[in-house]
Amino acid sequence: MEIKKKDIRALTKEQLRDFFVKQGDKAFRGNQVYEWLWQKSAHNFEDMTNVSKETRQMLEDNFVINHIKVDTMQRSNDGTVKNAVRLHDGLIVESVLIPTTTRTTACVSSQVGCSLDCKFCATARLKRMRNLNPDEIYDQVVAIDNESKLYYNRPLSNIVFMGMGEPLMNYNNVIKAIDKITSPEGLGMSPKRITLSTSGVPKMIKKMADDAVKFNLAVSLHSAIDEVRTTIMPFNETFPLKDLKESLEYWYAKTKRKISYEYVVWKGINDTQKDIDAFVKFCKYVPCKVNIIEYNPIDDGDFQQATNQALEDYINTLEKNRIVVNVRRSRGKDIDAACGQLANKS
Ligand code: SAH
Repeated sequence: MEIKKKDIRALTKEQLRDFFVKQGDKAFRGNQVYEWLWQKSAHNFEDMTNVSKETRQMLEDNFVINHIKVDTMQRSNDGTVKNAVRLHDGLIVESVLIPTTTRTTACVSSQVGCSLDCKFCATARLKRMRNLNPDEIYDQVVAIDNESKLYYNRPLSNIVFMGMGEPLMNYNNVIKAIDKITSPEGLGMSPKRITLSTSGVPKMIKKMADDAVKFNLAVSLHSAIDEVRTTIMPFNETFPLKDLKESLEYWYAKTKRKISYEYVVWKGINDTQKDIDAFVKFCKYVPCKVNIIEYNPIDDGDFQQATNQALEDYINTLEKNRIVVNVRRSRGKDIDAACGQLANKS
């Protein structure tokens, strides 16, 4: 009878230490193996050279290391790199490396497909297939860190959870992955360089505040008028703006950290003065900054980028109200790597 081997990276350090003690070995062996698995990203037990041959064989008999595999890598003419990442069960997610002159940002996925149903996003059409495990999220970051060193001679500087999926619908695994990314036993990155982006799940925003997380929060708002937001992001019916506002106030009261709002302006959808005024009012609830994102068409005629005039009206009104606003040009459009385009097409 074949014994189903366990995924060794599903174990915490404590569990790994206990495992070795039960085997009659020292708890310290657990630390060594843990370091190989996370800090050194070992793909095989054989690589663990400071562990005896017998122990390596024993691990091989009991466990597997489920590493992701970068299936295809595409490079855009603007330097953006997109990885199609194959998971141990054959499913694919995508992650993106975005270089600028001063930083390299990894945009990582948290789910295969997405739990939510935003009408303008290609990932939403895949529906949610499953949540990613902490190691599958961590591995995407390691892969991009390696590519950053290879192509840009510098390590990764920032991480955004803006790939496929809704991170707050896979909260526990995302938190575990961030713990590994920030821990000295993992990548040792500062949480200040990590941003979690959510479509806005109020209950989970409050939970993050209660958990005193140290990373940044971005909210994909796109409209501050319930009727409009519900048409383009139907889950807004369940999580209306009133609840979102309350959760953001709670977040700010507890963390004292500014929120970023992601906002796309579309022709005929949210490009009137009424839309702008509602947004400005929303921006005053808690200290924030605004990122206006260029729309990336996903081969469907319903959504079109608003006119430059409409964008300027937004920017001028926000600035007049002393709200910091950045306009984000799309990166990696030619390889379908831009916001909202991740849908396993390659
Ligand atoms: N579910 C999370 C994480 C995904 S982030 C969230 O919604 O925040 C992906 C970002 O790209 C979000 O801000 C999303 O609203 C935006 N986006 C989705 N489709 C887009 C498109 N076609 N063009 C531009 N931005 C898009």
